[in-house]
Amino acid sequence: MVQSSASPRAATCPACGHHVAVSFYEGGSQPLATLAWPKSQKAARSLPKFHLDFVRCVSCGHVFNVTFDYENVPYSEKPNLMFNHGNSWSGFLNNVRSAILKQLPESPVVVEIGYGDGAFLSGLSEARPGGRYIGFDPNGASAANTSVELRAELFDPARHLAELKPDLIISRHVLEHLVNPLGFLQQMSFCASMLQSAPVVYLEVPCVDAAISSRRTVDFYYEHSSQFTTESFTKMLSLSTHEIFEIGHGYEGEVIFGFASLGAPVTAREHAFQADAFYRETEDGHNAICKELADLHVSGKRVALWGGTGKSAAFMCHYGVDAQRFPVVVDSDQNKAGTFVPGTGQEIRFRDYLLDHDVDVIIIPPQWRAADIISEITQNGIVCEQVLIEHLGHLIDYNRDQHPYRV
Ligand SMILES: [Zn+2]
Repeated sequence: MVQSSASPRAATCPACGHHVAVSFYEGGSQPLATLAWPKSQKAARSLPKFHLDFVRCVSCGHVFNVTFDYENVPYSEKPNLMFNHGNSWSGFLNNVRSAILKQLPESPVVVEIGYGDGAFLSGLSEARPGGRYIGFDPNGASAANTSVELRAELFDPARHLAELKPDLIISRHVLEHLVNPLGFLQQMSFCASMLQSAPVVYLEVPCVDAAISSRRTVDFYYEHSSQFTTESFTKMLSLSTHEIFEIGHGYEGEVIFGFASLGAPVTAREHAFQADAFYRETEDGHNAICKELADLHVSGKRVALWGGTGKSAAFMCHYGVDAQRFPVVVDSDQNKAGTFVPGTGQEIRFRDYLLDHDVDVIIIPPQWRAADIISEITQNGIVCEQVLIEHLGHLIDYNRDQHPYRV
Protein backbone atom coordinates (compact mmCIF):
# COMPACT_ATOMS: atom_id res chain seq x y z
CA MET A 1 0.00 0.00 0.00
CA VAL A 2 1.29 3.45 -0.94
CA GLN A 3 1.81 5.69 2.08
CA SER A 4 0.77 9.31 1.76
CA SER A 5 2.24 12.16 3.74
CA ALA A 6 -0.86 14.29 3.08
CA SER A 7 -2.09 15.90 6.27
CA PRO A 8 -5.53 17.42 6.61
CA ARG A 9 -5.99 21.17 6.32
CA ALA A 10 -9.08 22.99 7.48
CA ALA A 11 -10.49 24.71 4.39
CA THR A 12 -14.06 24.98 3.14
CA CYS A 13 -14.49 23.65 -0.39
CA PRO A 14 -16.13 26.21 -2.73
CA ALA A 15 -17.74 23.40 -4.77
CA CYS A 16 -19.20 21.07 -2.12
CA GLY A 17 -18.76 22.80 1.25
CA HIS A 18 -16.63 19.97 2.71
CA HIS A 19 -14.16 21.13 5.33
CA VAL A 20 -11.14 18.88 4.87
CA ALA A 21 -8.55 19.42 2.13
CA VAL A 22 -4.96 18.38 1.55
CA SER A 23 -2.04 20.25 -0.01
CA PHE A 24 -2.09 19.96 -3.80
CA TYR A 25 0.31 22.49 -5.37
CA GLU A 26 2.80 24.95 -3.88
CA GLY A 27 3.27 27.54 -6.62
CA GLY A 28 5.31 30.07 -4.64
CA SER A 29 4.36 33.73 -5.00
CA GLN A 30 3.36 35.22 -8.34
CA PRO A 31 1.82 38.46 -9.55
CA LEU A 32 -1.61 38.41 -11.22
CA ALA A 33 -1.18 36.58 -14.52
CA THR A 34 -4.01 37.89 -16.68
CA LEU A 35 -5.42 40.99 -15.03
CA ALA A 36 -2.38 43.10 -14.10
CA TRP A 37 -1.55 44.53 -17.57
CA PRO A 38 1.72 46.30 -16.60
CA LYS A 39 2.73 49.19 -18.88
CA SER A 40 6.52 48.92 -18.43
CA GLN A 41 9.22 46.42 -17.55
CA LYS A 42 9.74 48.15 -14.21
CA ALA A 43 6.03 48.03 -13.43
CA ALA A 44 5.90 44.37 -14.49
CA ARG A 45 8.76 43.45 -12.17
CA SER A 46 7.43 45.35 -9.21
CA LEU A 47 3.91 43.97 -9.28
CA PRO A 48 2.67 42.70 -5.93
CA LYS A 49 2.93 38.93 -5.55
CA PHE A 50 0.42 36.55 -4.06
CA HIS A 51 0.85 33.08 -2.62
CA LEU A 52 -0.32 30.11 -4.70
CA ASP A 53 -1.20 27.58 -2.02
CA PHE A 54 -3.54 25.19 -3.80
CA VAL A 55 -5.31 22.44 -1.86
CA ARG A 56 -7.63 19.66 -2.96
CA CYS A 57 -10.95 18.85 -1.31
CA VAL A 58 -10.85 15.23 -0.15
CA SER A 59 -14.60 14.85 -0.66
CA CYS A 60 -15.18 16.06 -4.25
CA GLY A 61 -11.66 16.62 -5.64
CA HIS A 62 -12.06 20.36 -6.23
CA VAL A 63 -8.78 22.31 -6.38
CA PHE A 64 -8.56 25.77 -4.84
CA ASN A 65 -6.11 28.34 -3.52
CA VAL A 66 -6.71 28.73 0.20
CA THR A 67 -4.93 32.09 0.33
CA PHE A 68 -7.07 33.63 -2.41
CA ASP A 69 -8.57 37.02 -1.57
CA TYR A 70 -11.03 38.55 -4.02
CA GLU A 71 -9.82 42.01 -2.94
CA ASN A 72 -6.55 41.39 -4.79
CA VAL A 73 -8.26 40.84 -8.15
CA PRO A 74 -9.31 44.03 -9.92
CA TYR A 75 -12.14 42.69 -12.06
CA SER A 76 -13.81 46.06 -11.88
CA GLU A 77 -10.87 47.81 -13.55
CA LYS A 78 -9.80 45.33 -16.21
CA PRO A 79 -12.14 43.22 -18.30
CA ASN A 80 -11.44 39.51 -18.26
CA LEU A 81 -11.67 38.81 -21.98
CA MET A 82 -10.86 35.14 -22.09
CA PHE A 83 -12.39 33.93 -25.31
CA ASN A 84 -10.37 33.48 -28.46
CA HIS A 85 -11.78 32.78 -31.88
CA GLY A 86 -9.83 29.60 -32.71
CA ASN A 87 -11.56 26.98 -34.84
CA SER A 88 -12.05 24.33 -32.18
CA TRP A 89 -13.35 26.92 -29.75
CA SER A 90 -15.85 28.23 -32.33
CA GLY A 91 -16.92 24.66 -33.06
CA PHE A 92 -17.52 24.04 -29.38
CA LEU A 93 -19.52 27.27 -29.06
CA ASN A 94 -21.69 26.29 -32.03
CA ASN A 95 -22.44 22.94 -30.40
CA VAL A 96 -23.32 24.66 -27.13
CA ARG A 97 -25.60 27.10 -28.94
CA SER A 98 -27.45 24.24 -30.70
CA ALA A 99 -27.83 22.34 -27.43
CA ILE A 100 -29.20 25.45 -25.72
CA LEU A 101 -31.63 26.25 -28.56
CA LYS A 102 -33.13 22.77 -28.19
CA GLN A 103 -34.06 23.64 -24.59
CA LEU A 104 -35.81 26.89 -25.49
CA PRO A 105 -39.47 27.60 -26.26
CA GLU A 106 -40.51 29.76 -29.26
CA SER A 107 -40.29 33.07 -27.41
CA PRO A 108 -37.90 32.42 -24.57
CA VAL A 109 -36.69 34.62 -21.75
CA VAL A 110 -32.96 33.99 -21.46
CA VAL A 111 -30.66 35.44 -18.81
CA GLU A 112 -26.88 35.32 -19.04
CA ILE A 113 -24.90 35.94 -15.87
CA GLY A 114 -21.51 37.41 -16.77
CA TYR A 115 -22.10 38.08 -20.46
CA GLY A 116 -18.60 39.57 -21.09
CA ASP A 117 -18.61 40.96 -24.64
CA GLY A 118 -22.24 39.92 -25.16
CA ALA A 119 -21.44 37.87 -28.28
CA PHE A 120 -22.83 34.57 -27.02
CA LEU A 121 -26.15 36.09 -25.96
CA SER A 122 -26.42 38.05 -29.25
CA GLY A 123 -25.79 34.82 -31.18
CA LEU A 124 -28.68 33.15 -29.37
CA SER A 125 -31.02 36.07 -29.97
CA GLU A 126 -30.22 35.99 -33.68
CA ALA A 127 -30.86 32.24 -33.84
CA ARG A 128 -34.16 32.49 -31.93
CA PRO A 129 -35.54 36.01 -32.46
CA GLY A 130 -38.74 36.96 -30.72
CA GLY A 131 -37.52 36.14 -27.24
CA ARG A 132 -36.11 38.36 -24.55
CA TYR A 133 -32.37 38.16 -23.88
CA ILE A 134 -31.00 39.87 -20.78
CA GLY A 135 -27.34 39.90 -19.76
CA PHE A 136 -25.93 40.78 -16.33
CA ASP A 137 -22.30 41.78 -15.89
CA PRO A 138 -21.04 44.70 -13.81
CA ASN A 139 -17.96 44.88 -16.04
CA GLY A 140 -19.51 43.80 -19.33
CA ALA A 141 -19.52 45.59 -22.68
CA SER A 142 -22.42 47.84 -23.66
CA ALA A 143 -25.04 46.57 -26.06
CA ALA A 144 -23.94 46.27 -29.70
CA ASN A 145 -27.48 45.73 -30.96
CA THR A 146 -31.00 46.09 -29.70
CA SER A 147 -31.86 42.37 -29.70
CA VAL A 148 -30.24 41.95 -26.30
CA GLU A 149 -30.63 43.91 -23.08
CA LEU A 150 -27.32 44.25 -21.27
CA ARG A 151 -27.34 45.38 -17.67
CA ALA A 152 -24.14 46.53 -15.97
CA GLU A 153 -25.07 45.03 -12.62
CA LEU A 154 -24.77 41.83 -10.61
CA PHE A 155 -27.51 39.24 -10.94
CA ASP A 156 -29.55 39.17 -7.75
CA PRO A 157 -31.44 35.83 -7.66
CA ALA A 158 -34.30 36.99 -5.41
CA ARG A 159 -34.98 40.18 -7.34
CA HIS A 160 -34.21 39.19 -10.92
CA LEU A 161 -35.79 35.72 -10.96
CA ALA A 162 -39.03 37.32 -9.78
CA GLU A 163 -38.78 40.17 -12.27
CA LEU A 164 -37.79 38.22 -15.38
CA LYS A 165 -39.11 34.66 -14.84
CA PRO A 166 -36.45 33.25 -17.19
CA ASP A 167 -36.82 29.95 -19.05
CA LEU A 168 -33.06 29.55 -19.15
CA ILE A 169 -30.13 31.00 -17.22
CA ILE A 170 -26.69 30.78 -18.77
CA SER A 171 -23.44 31.20 -16.88
CA ARG A 172 -20.25 30.57 -18.78
CA HIS A 173 -16.82 30.90 -17.15
CA VAL A 174 -18.14 32.77 -14.13
CA LEU A 175 -18.53 30.19 -11.35
CA GLU A 176 -14.80 29.51 -11.16
CA HIS A 177 -14.30 33.20 -10.26
CA LEU A 178 -16.79 33.20 -7.40
CA VAL A 179 -15.62 32.71 -3.83
CA ASN A 180 -18.73 30.63 -3.13
CA PRO A 181 -20.18 29.16 -6.35
CA LEU A 182 -22.09 26.44 -4.47
CA GLY A 183 -23.75 29.09 -2.32
CA PHE A 184 -24.69 31.15 -5.37
CA LEU A 185 -26.37 28.20 -7.09
CA GLN A 186 -28.12 27.14 -3.89
CA GLN A 187 -29.45 30.66 -3.53
CA MET A 188 -30.74 30.60 -7.11
CA SER A 189 -32.44 27.24 -6.54
CA PHE A 190 -33.99 28.42 -3.29
CA CYS A 191 -35.30 31.62 -4.88
CA ALA A 192 -36.70 29.66 -7.85
CA SER A 193 -38.50 27.30 -5.44
CA MET A 194 -39.98 30.18 -3.49
CA LEU A 195 -41.33 31.52 -6.80
CA GLN A 196 -42.54 28.02 -7.68
CA SER A 197 -40.56 28.10 -10.92
CA ALA A 198 -37.94 25.71 -12.22
CA PRO A 199 -35.79 27.44 -14.85
CA VAL A 200 -33.11 25.48 -16.67
CA VAL A 201 -29.49 26.52 -16.15
CA TYR A 202 -26.58 26.03 -18.53
CA LEU A 203 -23.31 26.23 -16.61
CA GLU A 204 -19.84 26.05 -18.12
CA VAL A 205 -16.41 26.24 -16.49
CA PRO A 206 -12.84 25.12 -17.25
CA CYS A 207 -12.07 21.52 -16.27
CA VAL A 208 -8.71 20.54 -14.76
CA ASP A 209 -8.97 16.73 -15.07
CA ALA A 210 -6.30 16.71 -17.79
CA ALA A 211 -4.13 19.26 -15.99
CA ILE A 212 -4.11 17.02 -12.91
CA SER A 213 -3.34 13.77 -14.73
CA SER A 214 -0.58 15.33 -16.85
CA ARG A 215 0.94 17.27 -13.90
CA ARG A 216 0.40 20.62 -15.66
CA THR A 217 1.14 23.55 -13.36
CA VAL A 218 0.38 26.53 -15.62
CA ASP A 219 -3.38 26.28 -15.03
CA PHE A 220 -2.91 27.17 -11.39
CA TYR A 221 -2.35 30.91 -11.09
CA TYR A 222 -3.86 33.47 -8.77
CA GLU A 223 -6.92 34.48 -10.80
CA HIS A 224 -7.73 30.78 -11.32
CA SER A 225 -8.26 30.26 -7.62
CA SER A 226 -11.03 27.68 -7.90
CA GLN A 227 -10.69 24.85 -10.40
CA PHE A 228 -13.35 22.29 -11.18
CA THR A 229 -12.85 18.63 -11.94
CA THR A 230 -15.62 16.53 -13.50
CA GLU A 231 -16.33 15.17 -10.04
CA SER A 232 -16.38 18.50 -8.19
CA PHE A 233 -18.55 20.18 -10.84
CA THR A 234 -21.05 17.29 -10.77
CA LYS A 235 -21.10 17.24 -6.98
CA MET A 236 -21.73 21.00 -6.84
CA LEU A 237 -24.69 20.67 -9.21
CA SER A 238 -26.08 17.70 -7.29
CA LEU A 239 -25.96 19.82 -4.10
CA SER A 240 -27.50 22.92 -5.64
CA THR A 241 -30.01 22.03 -8.37
CA HIS A 242 -33.22 20.05 -8.61
CA GLU A 243 -32.25 17.73 -11.45
CA ILE A 244 -29.14 17.35 -13.61
CA PHE A 245 -30.11 16.66 -17.25
CA GLU A 246 -26.64 16.45 -18.77
CA ILE A 247 -22.98 16.81 -17.91
CA GLY A 248 -20.61 17.04 -20.87
CA HIS A 249 -17.16 18.13 -21.92
CA GLY A 250 -15.92 20.33 -24.74
CA TYR A 251 -12.67 21.52 -26.19
CA GLU A 252 -10.79 18.21 -25.73
CA GLY A 253 -12.04 17.86 -22.17
CA GLU A 254 -10.70 21.26 -21.06
CA VAL A 255 -14.20 22.60 -20.49
CA ILE A 256 -17.08 21.03 -18.58
CA PHE A 257 -20.73 22.02 -18.88
CA GLY A 258 -24.02 21.01 -17.35
CA PHE A 259 -27.74 21.43 -17.97
CA ALA A 260 -29.90 21.27 -14.85
CA SER A 261 -33.18 22.60 -13.51
CA LEU A 262 -33.16 24.88 -10.49
CA GLY A 263 -35.11 23.98 -7.40
CA ALA A 264 -34.60 23.33 -3.70
CA PRO A 265 -35.99 20.43 -1.64
CA VAL A 266 -39.51 20.83 -0.18
CA THR A 267 -37.95 21.14 3.28
CA ALA A 268 -36.18 24.36 2.21
CA ARG A 269 -39.53 26.08 1.61
CA GLU A 270 -40.91 24.66 4.86
CA HIS A 271 -37.93 25.91 6.86
CA ALA A 272 -38.24 29.31 5.23
CA PHE A 273 -41.94 29.59 6.08
CA GLN A 274 -41.29 28.43 9.66
CA ALA A 275 -38.45 30.96 10.03
CA ASP A 276 -40.64 33.73 8.67
CA ALA A 277 -43.43 32.85 11.12
CA PHE A 278 -40.95 32.85 14.04
CA TYR A 279 -39.54 36.19 12.87
CA ARG A 280 -42.91 37.90 12.60
CA GLU A 281 -44.48 36.37 15.70
CA THR A 282 -41.49 37.13 17.94
CA GLU A 283 -41.66 40.75 16.74
CA ASP A 284 -45.34 40.84 17.72
CA GLY A 285 -44.42 39.08 20.97
CA HIS A 286 -41.79 41.70 21.70
CA ASN A 287 -44.35 44.49 21.39
CA ALA A 288 -46.94 42.61 23.47
CA ILE A 289 -44.55 41.69 26.30
CA CYS A 290 -43.03 45.19 26.48
CA LYS A 291 -46.58 46.51 26.92
CA GLU A 292 -47.42 43.88 29.56
CA LEU A 293 -44.24 44.79 31.48
CA ALA A 294 -45.12 48.49 31.26
CA ASP A 295 -48.65 47.74 32.58
CA LEU A 296 -47.17 45.66 35.40
CA HIS A 297 -44.92 48.55 36.38
CA VAL A 298 -47.77 51.07 36.24
CA SER A 299 -49.95 48.77 38.39
CA GLY A 300 -47.58 49.41 41.27
CA LYS A 301 -47.03 45.73 41.97
CA ARG A 302 -43.64 44.80 43.37
CA VAL A 303 -41.82 42.58 40.88
CA ALA A 304 -38.74 40.34 41.06
CA LEU A 305 -36.96 38.65 38.18
CA TRP A 306 -35.57 35.20 38.94
CA GLY A 307 -32.12 34.61 37.44
CA GLY A 308 -29.54 37.20 36.50
CA THR A 309 -27.50 35.57 33.74
CA GLY A 310 -28.01 33.40 30.65
CA LYS A 311 -31.68 33.15 29.60
CA SER A 312 -32.76 35.62 32.28
CA ALA A 313 -30.24 38.22 31.08
CA ALA A 314 -31.38 37.59 27.48
CA PHE A 315 -35.00 38.15 28.56
CA MET A 316 -34.20 41.38 30.35
CA CYS A 317 -32.14 42.79 27.48
CA HIS A 318 -34.65 41.78 24.80
CA TYR A 319 -37.71 43.15 26.57
CA GLY A 320 -36.01 46.20 28.08
CA VAL A 321 -36.40 45.17 31.74
CA ASP A 322 -34.50 48.17 33.04
CA ALA A 323 -33.10 48.65 36.53
CA GLN A 324 -35.25 51.74 37.19
CA ARG A 325 -38.65 50.03 36.80
CA PHE A 326 -37.54 46.51 37.80
CA PRO A 327 -34.67 46.80 40.29
CA VAL A 328 -35.08 43.40 42.02
CA VAL A 329 -33.24 40.44 40.52
CA VAL A 330 -32.55 37.27 42.50
CA ASP A 331 -30.78 34.03 41.65
CA SER A 332 -30.69 30.47 43.03
CA ASP A 333 -26.90 30.55 42.83
CA GLN A 334 -25.26 32.33 45.75
CA ASN A 335 -22.04 32.70 43.74
CA LYS A 336 -23.78 35.15 41.40
CA ALA A 337 -24.84 37.44 44.25
CA GLY A 338 -23.07 40.80 44.12
CA THR A 339 -22.58 40.70 40.34
CA PHE A 340 -24.76 42.63 37.94
CA VAL A 341 -27.11 41.70 35.07
CA PRO A 342 -25.25 42.08 31.76
CA GLY A 343 -26.76 44.93 29.78
CA THR A 344 -29.45 46.16 32.19
CA GLY A 345 -27.26 46.47 35.31
CA GLN A 346 -29.46 45.29 38.22
CA GLU A 347 -27.46 43.96 41.16
CA ILE A 348 -28.09 40.21 41.46
CA ARG A 349 -29.09 39.11 44.97
CA PHE A 350 -29.30 35.63 46.48
CA ARG A 351 -32.90 34.33 46.54
CA ASP A 352 -33.17 34.72 50.35
CA TYR A 353 -33.32 38.47 49.76
CA LEU A 354 -37.03 37.87 49.04
CA LEU A 355 -37.60 36.55 52.59
CA ASP A 356 -37.39 40.06 54.01
CA HIS A 357 -38.22 42.04 50.84
CA ASP A 358 -41.72 41.02 49.81
CA VAL A 359 -42.75 41.06 46.17
CA ASP A 360 -46.14 40.46 44.53
CA VAL A 361 -44.96 38.99 41.24
CA ILE A 362 -41.98 36.82 40.28
CA ILE A 363 -41.06 36.55 36.61
CA ILE A 364 -39.13 33.38 35.73
CA PRO A 365 -37.52 33.78 32.27
CA PRO A 366 -36.10 30.19 31.92
CA GLN A 367 -39.48 28.44 31.40
CA TRP A 368 -38.17 24.87 31.53
CA ARG A 369 -36.69 25.47 35.00
CA ALA A 370 -39.86 27.14 36.31
CA ALA A 371 -41.19 24.02 38.06
CA ASP A 372 -37.91 23.55 39.99
CA ILE A 373 -37.71 27.23 40.85
CA ILE A 374 -41.30 27.23 42.14
CA SER A 375 -40.44 24.25 44.42
CA GLU A 376 -37.42 26.21 45.62
CA ILE A 377 -39.62 29.26 46.30
CA THR A 378 -42.10 27.16 48.30
CA GLN A 379 -39.47 25.18 50.21
CA ASN A 380 -37.70 28.33 51.29
CA GLY A 381 -40.86 30.03 52.47
CA ILE A 382 -40.83 32.79 49.88
CA VAL A 383 -44.32 34.14 49.26
CA CYS A 384 -45.70 35.80 46.14
CA GLU A 385 -49.10 36.27 44.60
CA GLN A 386 -48.26 35.40 40.99
CA VAL A 387 -45.53 33.73 38.92
CA LEU A 388 -45.22 34.83 35.31
CA ILE A 389 -43.42 33.11 32.42
CA GLU A 390 -43.05 34.02 28.75
CA HIS A 391 -45.11 31.81 26.43
CA LEU A 392 -46.21 32.33 22.81
CA GLY A 393 -45.47 36.03 22.85
CA HIS A 394 -47.12 36.91 26.19
CA LEU A 395 -46.41 36.89 29.88
CA ILE A 396 -48.72 34.23 31.31
CA ASP A 397 -49.63 33.06 34.79
CA TYR A 398 -47.69 29.84 35.50
CA ASN A 399 -50.38 28.46 37.81
CA ARG A 400 -53.55 29.45 35.94
CA ASP A 401 -52.74 29.51 32.22
CA GLN A 402 -52.09 26.75 29.68
CA HIS A 403 -48.43 25.91 28.92
CA PRO A 404 -46.14 22.86 28.58
CA TYR A 405 -43.80 23.58 31.52
CA ARG A 406 -45.78 22.00 34.35
CA VAL A 407 -44.38 18.75 35.78
ZN1 LIG B 1 -15.40 19.57 -2.27
